[in-house]
Amino acid sequence: MTSRRGLLEGIAAAGGINAAVAALGALGGLAPTPAQAAAPVLPRGGKPVLVVGGGIAGLVVALELKHAGWPVKLLEASDRPGGRCLTLRAGDTVREADGTPQKVGWASAPHLYMNPGPARIPHHHRGILGYCKQLGVALEPLVNENRAALAEGPDGPVPLRQVNAGLRGVVAELAAKGLERGTLEAPLTDADLEALRAMLRGFGALDHEWRWRGSSRGGWAERPGIEDGKPTPPLDPRALLDPVLWRGANFAEGIDYAATMLQPVGGIDSIARALAKALGPSLVLNAEVTSLRRLPGGARVVWRDRRRGGKQQVETPAQVVLALPAPVLATLDSDLSAPRRDALRDLFYASAGKLAFQCDRRFWEDEHAIYGGISFSARDVNQLWYPSHGFHAPKGVLLGAYIWGGPAGARFAGRTPDERAAAAVADGEALHPGYAAQVSKPVSVAWGNMPFARGAWVEWTEPQRAHSYAMLRAAEGPYHFAGEHLSHQTAWMEGAVISAWSALAGLARA
Ligand SMILES: Cc1cc2nc3c(=O)[nH]c(=O)nc-3n(C[C@H](O)[C@H](O)[C@H](O)COP(=O)(O)OP(=O)(O)OC[C@H]3O[C@@H](n4cnc5c(N)ncnc54)[C@H](O)[C@@H]3O)c2cc1C
Repeated sequence: MTSRRGLLEGIAAAGGINAAVAALGALGGLAPTPAQAAAPVLPRGGKPVLVVGGGIAGLVVALELKHAGWPVKLLEASDRPGGRCLTLRAGDTVREADGTPQKVGWASAPHLYMNPGPARIPHHHRGILGYCKQLGVALEPLVNENRAALAEGPDGPVPLRQVNAGLRGVVAELAAKGLERGTLEAPLTDADLEALRAMLRGFGALDHEWRWRGSSRGGWAERPGIEDGKPTPPLDPRALLDPVLWRGANFAEGIDYAATMLQPVGGIDSIARALAKALGPSLVLNAEVTSLRRLPGGARVVWRDRRRGGKQQVETPAQVVLALPAPVLATLDSDLSAPRRDALRDLFYASAGKLAFQCDRRFWEDEHAIYGGISFSARDVNQLWYPSHGFHAPKGVLLGAYIWGGPAGARFAGRTPDERAAAAVADGEALHPGYAAQVSKPVSVAWGNMPFARGAWVEWTEPQRAHSYAMLRAAEGPYHFAGEHLSHQTAWMEGAVISAWSALAGLARA
């Protein structure tokens, strides 16, 4: 008799992934789990579940099962919970795939840390924030937009306040000059036109002739004190056409980047540690799963105990939740269907990376009054993040590069840690002259090189969403799936939480 797997592989070979997805639905019981807006209410005490992968997705699945009284065990390959939800502090060691250790040589203090993966939480990410609240993870504001921070234009660094003021001024002046009765589709009365002009004057700080001639919004050339001040002259409007400038100024307009942004006090890994603590002994660290096979009524999962010389262990749960990044799951020795493995392999993961320095003086506060926020570079380092905590402390950890992928990400990943640091220092000089003398003790993480992640976050294409998303979310025999990539909130911990809830709903129905 043709097995279900053989049948699907045959359909996929003949008709491609679309046909296999349709067949999955037709075979019944494998329909994708509907999206969940909250953790599903689970029936009490289901059959034993093994969760593989102790990132946010796996931790949430395991904790909800534990709360509902299901027998659950979570196997995590590394020696700490959280996966990409990672914080580095004094004494920690980072090892990328080539095994070269980078020891974090910073001073030890609560404010001296780096979040190489997630760092900020938008105020509307109710899933992850809900777990923070439930588990008592202390939060503080993260300054995402700071108009004292800089953007590197063609003529050098410009404070974002000057860019913002210029953009608003120029746009308002253009609009005010072009404003006539027929400018907008809505019929405008004389009173409406008057009100619109008043709005534009306020929006752009225009003068009485409807012109943008600069204002204190762009900063002070001479600060007011006993004597009156003088505003910085406006930027040449042509400078505003530089994409580093206008992108930097618009950055926090996106819903996921707008105030209020939050961060856990002391490092993002407080979230993973709180979830792990609530889970207790169900979480097994250093447990690297090496193979997956179906059995009648369940699965056989082999793992190696990395603390005990790789000693092999076997689990035979009724159901398995695979909360692994796609590049990891695609290459795991398993009997997952060929269409699924092909689709997993096809997914593109960004090669993002971060690099941080210890600074013995918080020169950005002392010299620029920059308290938190981001400066935008025209070079590979892309973004510099100033810490939103430890203000006025003697030292700080400055994020000297946050590269989102692309050719700069590939260059970063292809360099040794020392080469990355040298490049980041050279790039940083363009924003902060004298930078080289201020920064030390670099630490970097290139996510494409991290053994149990092999990428920063998924970047779905529209055709892939159309062809494979439903199939990848659907259960397959005893296997259920979770992870950031199985959501429309990719690159956010919220996506991992939502995917976990969706997998839980699937377990409850199975
Ligand atoms: C540079 C960067 C910046 C980001 N910024 C933000 C941000 O500011 N805010 C935000 O909310 N999100 C951010 N994200 C996204 C966020 O980190 C992820 O969406 C989320 O952490 C993914 O969780 P996950 O559980 O799906 O996967 P992971 O965290 O990758 O968890 C998978 C787990 O599986 C384990 N594993 C792998 N192989 C095996 C195996 N064989 N056996 C057992 N275990 C295994 C891994 O060790 C890992 O713990 C960022 C990510 C990166 C990389």
